[in-house]
Amino acid sequence: MSDKVIPLLDQRRVHAVPALPSQLLAPTGLLSDALGRPLRDLRISVTDRCNFRCGYCMPKQVFDKQYEFLPHSDLLSFEEITRLARVFVAHGVQKIRLTGGEPLLRRHLDALIEMLSEIRTPEGLPLDLTLTTNGSLLARKAASLKAAGLQRVTVSLDGLDDAVFQRMNDVGFPVADVVAGIEAASKAGLGPIKVNMVVKRGVNDQEILPMARHFRGSGVTLRFIEYMDVGATNGWRMDEVLPSSSVLARLREKFDMQPLSASVAGETAERWSYADGQGEIGLISSVTQAFCGDCNRARLSTEGKLYTCLFAHRGHDLRALLRGGASEADLSGAIGLLWGARADRYSQLRASGATTLGDGERRVEMHYIGG
Ligand code: SF4
Repeated sequence: MSDKVIPLLDQRRVHAVPALPSQLLAPTGLLSDALGRPLRDLRISVTDRCNFRCGYCMPKQVFDKQYEFLPHSDLLSFEEITRLARVFVAHGVQKIRLTGGEPLLRRHLDALIEMLSEIRTPEGLPLDLTLTTNGSLLARKAASLKAAGLQRVTVSLDGLDDAVFQRMNDVGFPVADVVAGIEAASKAGLGPIKVNMVVKRGVNDQEILPMARHFRGSGVTLRFIEYMDVGATNGWRMDEVLPSSSVLARLREKFDMQPLSASVAGETAERWSYADGQGEIGLISSVTQAFCGDCNRARLSTEGKLYTCLFAHRGHDLRALLRGGASEADLSGAIGLLWGARADRYSQLRASGATTLGDGERRVEMHYIGG
């Protein structure tokens, strides 16, 4: 069992108020970063709370009863989120993913979804509005999420065996309720549905084939995610990573599989289809096959900090600008400067053994900025 790390430095306190450019230029929708990567995908964390305690994200030993979650007054309001989203869309964002913690714990989330679903790209197109959930509340909420304007959902499910899944979520939550949530989402038309399984060697890798068999032919795309060294509390070790190449090898022993090309630029998953037409799977290999080269994702934390990488150690406080009287042009200028200077490529650097952390610095926690 890997040793958990008790954080000394509260990463949420490490941030800077973004500078404003000397000249405020109108957004063109063509903003690129220092490595030429456009800004296309915005992940918005709407709460830092979760009702699960998955060891690879929110280990119970750290996020216990004494842990201080953010007070509601610190969270961005729906109006503030929507205001920022409009600015990001003007800079080129075409897809918004709502995350958390567990986003369905945020009350009245439908209202936010309605507000975001009204936003149009500079070309007048609707956004690709999606959400990642642990599925615990999905059966109850799927229909109203759809009615509010949500298009798709991604559900996290780390196994079908109750004992294994409950060991992963560490709160004794049953598989059946998550599966019921997936079925309700499908019935409500929140598809194409994706299911994400984090694979931890020696913990749930025996669930790879049962999960594949369960979702084959169902229309749901199952994605296997390599266990990642996100944050500073999950005690990550490389020997607990099962490389995607091994996952694929196990699947190909049972099924005839064929590679598929990426469906969109910046797609994180390597796609493989079942040769018999029973659907496809995805492999998300941040550890063994870094995909920083076309990473077009920005992340907004629950209380309005911009992070330009999942493994970042410092955020940029857009809320301070919002609540400090900044205009749309100010916000646009600040975001343009931050993205323009972005050169993050943590997974590539990890692969070459070059770490990016200075003394006392630690990576932001995933539950705080969304996966
Ligand atoms: S490590 Fe950072 S830059 Fe690389 S793909 Fe992930 S989020 Fe993007």
